[in-house]
This record gives sequence, C-alpha cells and structure tokens, in this order.
Amino acid sequence: MSSDLTDLYQHVILDHNRRPRNRGRIPTANRVAHGDNPTCGDQCSVFLRLEGDRIADISFDGSGCAISQASASLMTTQVKGKTAAEARALYDHFHDIVTTGREPEEISDVAAFAGVHAFPARIKCATLGWHAFLNALKDDPAPATTENTPD
Ligand code: ZN
Repeated sequence: MSSDLTDLYQHVILDHNRRPRNRGRIPTANRVAHGDNPTCGDQCSVFLRLEGDRIADISFDGSGCAISQASASLMTTQVKGKTAAEARALYDHFHDIVTTGREPEEISDVAAFAGVHAFPARIKCATLGWHAFLNALKDDPAPATTENTPD
C-alpha cells in the first residue's frame, strides 16, 4: 500500500471516530442488540428499525477504541436502506478485508480497515459493531461477545 493510501485510510478511521455517523438511540428502533469486546474494553449497542426485510434506519452507541467506534459508524452508513441479505453480504465483504488484508479493487471507506488484519487482536474491535448488528437482525437477545464469536 502506498503511503498516500495509508494516510487516506487513516483519515477515514479518524474521521469516523471524531464525527461518528448515526450515533445515538433512534426512538423508532424495533431491534436492539449489544456487543462487548472484553479483550479491548469496547462496547457497542445497535438500534435497528427493520421494516419487512429492509433496514429502514440504524444507529449505534458505544465506547471503546478508535477502530471499534469508527467501524460501527461506518457499518451504519453501509447497511442503512439495504435488505437483510445485502447487509449480510456487506459484512462478508468487510470480514474478508479485515481478516485477509485483501483490498477491494475500488478505493472505498471499508478498505480503510484492511490494515487491521496485521493486528489480529484488533480484528475483534473492527467486527464488534457488525456482530451486534447481525444479532439485532436475527433478533437474538444474547449479547454479541467476542468471546464466543470466531472474529
Ligand atoms: Zn478495540
């Protein structure tokens, strides 16, 4: 990766961390799930408004490291308006990027997280918000904890 790209990608993560998108609790949420990453101390709650099969609205709230919060922020922007199946495909794509470091051909905000693969402990930070989201989608009341999820 060129250093220009590294700078750009760091900017994406810092920007989402400083100005998180869709942060807070949406009053119309009909699904809520919580994620916990005890190894880093990250917390993330996801509030989801599911209408039929579509993610009509989504927000998150939480605390923790820059990667966990930036990733949750980016996740909300990615899945809003998508169907459940489209959102799951986006997660698969993101998971592939953070676990392999394989960058998509197009420069995109999710590619900013490719560097995470070099730091295996941080992969759980990057996927925490996604796991909380997937639990909300499944309507699974059990908190998503990185202790019992593969990544
Ligand atoms: Zn973390």
